[in-house]
Amino acid sequence: MSTDNNRSLNYIEIPKLFYNDLTGAPMQKCISCERDLLDGIEPYMIEKALKPYDGLRSYSTVFEYAMCMQCMEGYQSKISKESMAKINDHFAANIDIENRRGLIENNQFDDLDAWVNKCIITKTEVESTAECQIYAQCIGDQLIMADYPYMISGIAMEEIVKLLSPETLDEFGRLQEELIGPSEFQDLLKGGPKVFL
Ligand SMILES: [Zn+2]
Repeated sequence: MSTDNNRSLNYIEIPKLFYNDLTGAPMQKCISCERDLLDGIEPYMIEKALKPYDGLRSYSTVFEYAMCMQCMEGYQSKISKESMAKINDHFAANIDIENRRGLIENNQFDDLDAWVNKCIITKTEVESTAECQIYAQCIGDQLIMADYPYMISGIAMEEIVKLLSPETLDEFGRLQEELIGPSEFQDLLKGGPKVFL
């Protein structure tokens, strides 16, 4: 038994759900600085926007990317402090923390579905959401099971959008344009900024 008081981190091999759907392989590079992530020892984030058809067993990918923490922090610094605080407060007040604690206490680290099948804010089942976004924090080829991974439903995303100032929405719009660019999914993305940090 460990006497270490620090929360020990649990890792799993990055599951296919967080692979690059375009290549069918794990995401390799930071979308912004293009550093290699799989060989790296620094944590990085994966974000994917999906339209689920059969839960997360079948879906189409609206966008997907991986970003190193350094670039992530760089982008976050462009978002106003007020907006970041609003997003953070919204999460702190609404996140389904009991469920998360239960997953960790019960060592449900091999049960990815339990982590991503319900919106972490609204508790909506993925089967009932037309669009959702999933997030993971990884290091090398391992996914860190702790605060992530989680899923946010489209409806919860719209609630977050309502909190933000027009300036912040513009900034997210620019970020999206820069990172993802015009794509065949452009129409899907018009409803609001879908890139969140
Ligand atoms: Zn980077």
